[in-house]
Amino acid sequence: MLVQVRTPEGRSILLRLQFRKGLSAEGTGLSKAFLAKGADPAAWVPFESLTAEGKRWALAALFPEDQWGPEEVRHKIRFPEVESVWTLAALFTGHGQNYDKVMAENPDLPEKLQAGDTWRIPRGLLSADLGGTGHRPERTRPEDDLDDEARVAAYRNLLSFGDDAQGKYAAYRMRKGEALYSSVVIRYTDRVDPKGVNELAVLIAQRSGIADVRGILPGQLIKIPVTILADPFQSEGSSGLAEEREIRAEVRRTARVEAGPKLKGVRIVLDAGHGGVDSGARANGIWESDFVYDIAMRVRRLLEQETDAQVSSTIRYPGLGFRSREEIGSPSRAAEILTTPPFAVDGESPSAVSVHLRWVLANDLFASFRKAKGEAQKTLFLSFHADSLHPSARGSMIYVPGASLVPTSFALGGSKTGHVTEARHSSRVSFTGREKLQGEARSRQFSEALLQALRKDRIPIHANRPIRNVIYRGGGKWVPAVIRYSTGATKALIEVANLTNEDDAANLKDPDFRERYAAAVVNAIRAYYRK
Ligand SMILES: [Zn+2]
Repeated sequence: MLVQVRTPEGRSILLRLQFRKGLSAEGTGLSKAFLAKGADPAAWVPFESLTAEGKRWALAALFPEDQWGPEEVRHKIRFPEVESVWTLAALFTGHGQNYDKVMAENPDLPEKLQAGDTWRIPRGLLSADLGGTGHRPERTRPEDDLDDEARVAAYRNLLSFGDDAQGKYAAYRMRKGEALYSSVVIRYTDRVDPKGVNELAVLIAQRSGIADVRGILPGQLIKIPVTILADPFQSEGSSGLAEEREIRAEVRRTARVEAGPKLKGVRIVLDAGHGGVDSGARANGIWESDFVYDIAMRVRRLLEQETDAQVSSTIRYPGLGFRSREEIGSPSRAAEILTTPPFAVDGESPSAVSVHLRWVLANDLFASFRKAKGEAQKTLFLSFHADSLHPSARGSMIYVPGASLVPTSFALGGSKTGHVTEARHSSRVSFTGREKLQGEARSRQFSEALLQALRKDRIPIHANRPIRNVIYRGGGKWVPAVIRYSTGATKALIEVANLTNEDDAANLKDPDFRERYAAAVVNAIRAYYRK
């Protein structure tokens, strides 16, 4: 979206507002007073590189109908195709992460912006440059630096249990800067998909006697029905809590496997989700398949260059091979699972086949490795994905196979094996109770190492519970098949980013980010096998 405006000196300037990328101004005609130090006036100057004066001018010029009052800005939606709540939060408050707060100030407006809607941004939320108090997103809380177990325990301590005419509930007091979606639903339940999160937010609000989901104040008492709580938050005596404690104990007594920084004797299988006819999740102008394939290929290259680990992939894009790319233009059409013979992900067979063949192939590779005297404990399966969650969520989330959701035995039906050679020996799996627990425990230890590596490199991770052992969607609970049936000692499905979140999408589009992400994964693998 290009708009021609005038500077105070009367020069004609183009402003460009892009979905996901935000606002930028043509630099050549901008006066010095509008340019922050280091901004290049010969190019498009991003909004963040304008001075306070430049920002105020750009917003007034782009949105001439906005009213700037002493208490608030009343912003009229002018370009609904490229404006979004995230963009508004970024432009007016200084950070898209204030999305929730902007939503909370406008409880009656639909999240999907419509031309002519007027959004209120109170002065307290405006960035310091725009005359506000410089509200920063409150992303760090005391529990954020804790490891997963301690963090979950800290969340639990914020709850108290009660009983009223409608039954048992867990009581939670909202803290400053918290929103019902992220700080209650996403944290305390297993729902993270947009529909599920919205439904539960409404349900919890009703249960708590709150008329308006978004107009919730700090200190407000929230009642969460115990039936929707995730296992770690269930009440004393429940089976969910007992399972949670059993797995935590297992994590503590599971000794790390030592392989040294060169990862000698470690067998790794990398999987990139989707591909071929299935491009996966889609939002903010990007799609899942090619972007996660690119990260997996970067991980592969780094492992091959820097370690002695034995690395295989489950999937290959024939036009590209195992190369990574700087530019990803459009969805790749062809992909094959690297079975014998290769299985084309071309839509000829149900998509479940190509999903199942990934674990069949990986398990077959692990079986050969063990047969050749490889150590069973040094097998690692990683599947890379990106999801489309509620837009208030951002950063990486890691799924591990919840012990209670892994079957005791499973055999893939003949029609789903794609008649590949690997299916002859590796299409059946069985797990003892001990193996299920060990599988979840090791996978949790790896996930913890991964979170540490991501944090160290300042890569966003999910704000609440970034390690999960169950997916709950549409009334069903499960763990993804690729990790559910994996015989790898350690396995994880990594959702590298939330495509629905604009900052996350922008990250994924950036090849430098993908490289940093891959490097963090490799650092995590090294740290994990180092004791
Ligand atoms: Zn996926």
